[in-house]
Amino acid sequence: MTKQWKAMILETIKEVRPELQELSEYIYANPELGHEEYLSSQAHVALLEKHGFEVEYPYLGIDTAFKAVYKGKTDGPTIAYLSEYDALPGIGHGCGHNLLGATDTGAGLVLSKLVDEVGGTVVVLGTPAEETNGDKVTMADAGTFDQVDIAFCTHPSDGYYASGTSMAMEAIAFNFYGKTAHAAAAPFEGINALDGCLNTFNSINSLRQQIHPTARVHGVITHGGEAANIIPEFARAEFYVRAMDMPYLNELREKVIRCAEAGALAAGCRMEWEYYETGYKNMITNETLSKRYNDNMKELGIEMLVDERDSMGSMDMGNVSQVVPAINPYFEITNGKAISAHTVEFRDCTKTEEAYEAMEKTIEGLTLTALDLIQDTELLKQVKKEFAEQV
Ligand SMILES: [Zn+2]
Ligand SMILES: [Zn+2]
Repeated sequence: MTKQWKAMILETIKEVRPELQELSEYIYANPELGHEEYLSSQAHVALLEKHGFEVEYPYLGIDTAFKAVYKGKTDGPTIAYLSEYDALPGIGHGCGHNLLGATDTGAGLVLSKLVDEVGGTVVVLGTPAEETNGDKVTMADAGTFDQVDIAFCTHPSDGYYASGTSMAMEAIAFNFYGKTAHAAAAPFEGINALDGCLNTFNSINSLRQQIHPTARVHGVITHGGEAANIIPEFARAEFYVRAMDMPYLNELREKVIRCAEAGALAAGCRMEWEYYETGYKNMITNETLSKRYNDNMKELGIEMLVDERDSMGSMDMGNVSQVVPAINPYFEITNGKAISAHTVEFRDCTKTEEAYEAMEKTIEGLTLTALDLIQDTELLKQVKKEFAEQV
């Protein structure tokens, strides 16, 4: 890549940084839960429109989702950056999605200043509700990525970590239906729905010994009856079932459901199950793409590390990574301190000078990598070849 592009990227980042900082701080000050991100999505859309993007908003019938497109003057690959902006209950932007959104939208803005000359199309997607019912799943299912060649998302963290894996996850609720009776005078006339629920927990606890060490099954009872002197006619438990890949998740789901069927059978009650939140697929990092990003970051003086922890959560970027080559690297905003996300301390790190510098570096890395893909057709071919083999 010529020096000219690198200099132009750096210059553009410096130009847009005040707007990105303002965007992040505005969203920080106005935290909105998933699917209520009206102010946050509006702020992103306003900035993208100001910079010449054509925006579809709402998108796919989702009020707080958007699709912003900037088409270069000549053809080339379509590069997507995915922005999030949902907050957490009680602690606001404890996951740092205010800064996440500013970084990914920022990368889109910077790349849009180059594509008129180098070719290609930039897409910025506003993806609501990552913490609950993530709409990246909706978009992956609706074909949003059919016309996209590469998808990037990046997340603030307590270190610079390379894109890794995440667990496939399904949220399954079991409803048990029994029959009330006086628990002392005529218990034999009742059917105890809570017993069906407790049997299920016991069976799953037995199952746990036989499952793969990386898999997880964890649940709570959300309904267990009304009073101790009434045989419960209704009980409900909600579980998350997680595995490292979809085939094992499919296997594990069936085993967990059998535990609930057995629990209901033993108690003589009826059981129905349902998904109570959107399930997420596991993240498949495109290693060719990831390596190029990591190399670009290294040139900027940042070593991308491997994070052993990131494989133990689930995220909706997983679904995206199964329909288009994608990476989801992390950038450090905690100034060397081990501060985990979903805390007040992490939230407050998103407003520091160190965090804004990390945002700038990350935008630089994301834009340089996109430019590589636009200019180096062999690289893009390799990325797509790996994707075809993986998925
Ligand atoms: Zn997050
Ligand atoms: Zn989070």
